[in-house]
Amino acid sequence: MSTQQILAPFDGWCSVLDEVPDPVFSGRMLGDGLAIDPTSGILVAPCAGEIITLPASAHAVSIRTAQGIDVLIHVGIDTVQLGGRGFEARVRPGAIVRAGDELIRFDLDVVARGAKSLMTPIVVTPMDGLRLQQRRAPGPVSTGEMLFEIAGIATAAGIETCTPPPRSADPPNRETAVGQTLIVTLRHGLHARPAALLAQRAKAFGAQASLSAHGRTANARSVVAIMALGVRHGDELSIQASGVDAAQSVASLVAGIQEALRTESAAGHGAAADSSRTALDSSKTASTLAPRSLPADGVLSGVTAVTGVAVGRATRIERREIAVTEHGAGAARESRELEQARVHVRARLERVAATGGATRREIIAAHLEFLDDPQVNEAAQDLIAAGKGAGFAWRSAIRRSVGALEALEDARLRERVDDLLDVESHVLLALAGEARPMNIPLPQRAVLVADDLLPSELTALDGARLVAICLGGGGATSHVAILAAAMDIPMLVGLGAGIREIADGATVIVDADAGTLQTAPTATAIEQARAAVEVRLMRREQTQAEAQTECRALDGTRVEVFANLGNVMDAAAAVVNGAEGCGLLRTEFLFIDRETAPSESEQLAAYQGIAAALGPRPLILRLMDVGGDKPLRYLPLPAEENPALGLRGVRTSLAYPDLMRTQLRAALRVQPSGSVRLLIPMVTDVAEILAVRGIIDEIKAEIGIHPRVELGAMIETPAAALMASRLVREVDFLSIGSNDLTQYTLAMDRGHPQLAGRTDALHPAVLQLVAAAAGAGVAAGKLVAVCGGVAADRLAVPILLGLGVRELSVVPATVPAIKHQIRSLRINDCRELAMRCLELASAAEVRAAVARTIGPAGDTH
Ligand code: PEP
Ligand code: MG
Repeated sequence: MSTQQILAPFDGWCSVLDEVPDPVFSGRMLGDGLAIDPTSGILVAPCAGEIITLPASAHAVSIRTAQGIDVLIHVGIDTVQLGGRGFEARVRPGAIVRAGDELIRFDLDVVARGAKSLMTPIVVTPMDGLRLQQRRAPGPVSTGEMLFEIAGIATAAGIETCTPPPRSADPPNRETAVGQTLIVTLRHGLHARPAALLAQRAKAFGAQASLSAHGRTANARSVVAIMALGVRHGDELSIQASGVDAAQSVASLVAGIQEALRTESAAGHGAAADSSRTALDSSKTASTLAPRSLPADGVLSGVTAVTGVAVGRATRIERREIAVTEHGAGAARESRELEQARVHVRARLERVAATGGATRREIIAAHLEFLDDPQVNEAAQDLIAAGKGAGFAWRSAIRRSVGALEALEDARLRERVDDLLDVESHVLLALAGEARPMNIPLPQRAVLVADDLLPSELTALDGARLVAICLGGGGATSHVAILAAAMDIPMLVGLGAGIREIADGATVIVDADAGTLQTAPTATAIEQARAAVEVRLMRREQTQAEAQTECRALDGTRVEVFANLGNVMDAAAAVVNGAEGCGLLRTEFLFIDRETAPSESEQLAAYQGIAAALGPRPLILRLMDVGGDKPLRYLPLPAEENPALGLRGVRTSLAYPDLMRTQLRAALRVQPSGSVRLLIPMVTDVAEILAVRGIIDEIKAEIGIHPRVELGAMIETPAAALMASRLVREVDFLSIGSNDLTQYTLAMDRGHPQLAGRTDALHPAVLQLVAAAAGAGVAAGKLVAVCGGVAADRLAVPILLGLGVRELSVVPATVPAIKHQIRSLRINDCRELAMRCLELASAAEVRAAVARTIGPAGDTH
């Protein structure tokens, strides 16, 4: 028997052919083999033989072995279109080569930018009775390592008989390795927060997952490595995983990107509501300290990071350099000390997070990810093993990642350098037995003046005394700017070195709207600026006060504005923003991304905390909406071809009633008794409602509670909308989940990047289903709410009210704006507008019709 080994022609990530985004290869039309996503640009011969083809474009090469077997290597997909750009042939057709001889050089960046994919199939073409064996498992591969062996080769004794494997047969690879390629539509690509989200998800699985873009591959568990991929809006991203739960891991990572998209669009609504506060213009980001000195008029120009006007006293804070020793006192000791310092910093950061708002918590979560980043920690441990001190190793490891980020073109990613430096100093201080001060004293009405500022330095400042921040460097989208926006502190960045000349204690005027800092203002200018500050303060107080009162349309019709919540911090934000209750508590956040189901007491504590934060306001608790794209590790849900059409929502709960019973017991024990209303997700028929109602009754009897429990059904499927008049008889209220209703009505995945512009809830087909559900509720005299994203869309609000919806549940930050809009609407006008919209031909026509009818402030006229 004769065999032929085929070796890896370059370094990269080995995958099954099914992953190649070209049916010619994935369908094995040219032959069988494997694919590699290259990480090096030198292609060497995978075996000895003669070069049979190597076109002028040099994007592919085939080589014939001594036994007459042809092996084709096709660099990337659709690379022929590059016409040779980025490729250089190193041999000519007809050349006789040995395994490992250089055949082609290619520029990974150029090819990655111009090709559909870098995935390179290496196939035996044609198979003609040959078979592949000892196929390499998916994962990283280095040049010269074996990919597969070809058996069934003609020998002197004749042809070895064998049957080629059926096309679908590739069991080990199929089961253990999966991948998905998508276009990243996140506005700012994979910046720190989505990267942290993905790393967290990747860590939750046993599978080895990696992300590839631009020809580079990153360990999906490393935030730094993900960010260093430099994935921007519109880039192609490949997600691969191998191992037992590879499919779930990839699904979870894809869901992570969708979650980041949702968060981004939710934040987008928020930004629309308070767009007067933060200007995030990365093109104007100032990351280096411009060598500008104070001009004669004393006015410095910078970039607006947070808008606003302030008058105060220039104040500086001291930053201390932390010294480290290069040589360690033994690897074991240094390693232990680094570990202890990290434990200490983690505990401290967690404590700080618990005392802050949602923004601070999110930023600290990103810092915690940096603290535990495998790439940073591995680099530090390597240095310690090489004899370096813990502090030196930690600083070097962080600076290496800083260098990688600084080399990126994306300003937003470069701004994450501050976060890394923040984590660096936390750990170095902990190693020195110190801690970053939690409280840095400030004089009254302080305008902080500094070259730059770290997030932890800002959180340590007394926010009540700080009226503005002026930085010589810094970036408008840095975490410290986000924190300043959350604290509502006007902030200018990029003012240049001139700020160093400002005398400590000098009175300055910060006009962050205009981007100017007046370092030597006249008395009149100071007086005028103080008056402007007063006016702004009054206006803000008015809006906040207005948001606290109950909401009625212009004709007096009562419309409740509730908030969608995920946790207790959201509940606090909802109250501050004037939400009249919680219209949707997404309880599934408590269930996903953990190893075991939350216990009854844990759930009770979480729900009770939220109820307490809401005070007397109603709390609508949605039963866990898990399954589908939100798999649970502790629930052996089968892998599904179409997760969105599989076991999710109430279907999962009814399939695993013990989980639902525990959740119901916790929800029904929230005090005061009977205060929680329950909402059933993904309802499609009456039987589901009756089944849940039956279990609720059993549990009420078990725990001895008597008050009636209000129950609602989510209208998220066309079936539920069309049957709403029947469903509503079994419940107390309906809540329209427009996100899913749109996806299922239009048959368009709500997270599909290319369909994002078309999954519009204002499509007349979706509106007709909303009308059916709302009409059924009105006829039955029961409340109909909308808790999907469309409730916060100012063009949708008049239509929803016109169709009979009387409760809108939106992200907390948008509550004031929605209340403000409703107060200017007349229900009769809304009704007439809604009826017209139902007759239109497309979502675009609906949007145009509403935009024509409502004024710039969103009121009908
Ligand atoms: C919806 O589908 O509109 C909804 C509110 O539920 P979720 O977004 O959590 O699926
Ligand atoms: Mg839904």
